Amino acid sequence: MVSVVIPVFNESATLPSLWSRLKPVLDGIGREWELIFIDDGSSDESLRILKTIAGGEDGRVRVVELARNFGQHSAILAGLRQVRGEVVVTLDADLQNPPEEIPRLLAEIDAGNDVVGGWREDRRDTNWRKFASRLQNRLTSTVVGVRMHDYGCMLRAYRRHIIDTVVDCDEKASFVPALANSFAKRVAEIKVGHAERSDGASKYNFLTLANLSLNLITGFSLLPIQALSLAGVGIFLLDAFLFAFLIFHRLFFGPQQEGALWLLFAVLFLLVGLLFLALGLIGEYVGRIYSEVRRRPTYVVREVHDGRAEEPRR
Ligand code: UDP
Ligand code: MG
Repeated sequence: MVSVVIPVFNESATLPSLWSRLKPVLDGIGREWELIFIDDGSSDESLRILKTIAGGEDGRVRVVELARNFGQHSAILAGLRQVRGEVVVTLDADLQNPPEEIPRLLAEIDAGNDVVGGWREDRRDTNWRKFASRLQNRLTSTVVGVRMHDYGCMLRAYRRHIIDTVVDCDEKASFVPALANSFAKRVAEIKVGHAERSDGASKYNFLTLANLSLNLITGFSLLPIQALSLAGVGIFLLDAFLFAFLIFHRLFFGPQQEGALWLLFAVLFLLVGLLFLALGLIGEYVGRIYSEVRRRPTYVVREVHDGRAEEPRR
């Protein structure tokens, strides 16, 4: 079974056309499917439209109504928690991701990939948004350790065991595509189309994007803390050179007029270096406590093979 998860926040303008395009695609994939809409606290007609859609589908379409607006990623997590299918597809409600690409994602999953990401090569967004996303993708690829061109594309497919692990993590500030990749053995990326937003506006602005970056850096690495320690070591080393130079100068050229001032500088930088190092050290402990508290699994067992005949896995 394929589960499709779609977060919805004030998308009443696009929902009818989304449904009219998605329905034939789902009926055409030749497997059982379910569709889970998450109404992320919409204040327009979205919830009513979603309920109408669900009403005509005998339980195949479910609507999870959140109590208020919790943000796209929380909404997706809420949906992922409800899935029953073996393969899970996520997609945006604003029709920027063409639903017609879903069969291609499924084909890549069938080819043995755990995660398949869409890559909006020809992206229809504003220039600053594309630039911000490029930076974000570099950053995400580095901290997660899995290179992908487009982490932000929500048109993605996952095998169920990946989703189960992501849901088990139950993280407050998580980013599903990044977290999923950190648990996947084989990931693939396929180029998908991207349409301009036909109605409404993007729910992202500079601040929400910056917040996402911060979540990523702090969520997947101890980079800022380690940068602090490194800076401390750097200052220390530079200061050692300064000291050496001062001693050398004193020995060969005798006392200088500003000698005392330079010495003061050297001592000051020694202390600053020490301070950075100390902060970094404390940070290192805090970081370790943080990763411990986060309880992200250190490993995930997918299956134990006991040598008996196995059921073929889809
Ligand atoms: N969305 C949501 N909650 C939010 C913001 C967005 O569920 O607080 C949904 C939105 O309805 C859409 C998807 O997340 O289906 C992507 O949002 P948007 O199109 O605004 O983001 P962009 O395409 O600019 O990345
Ligand atoms: Mg969009």
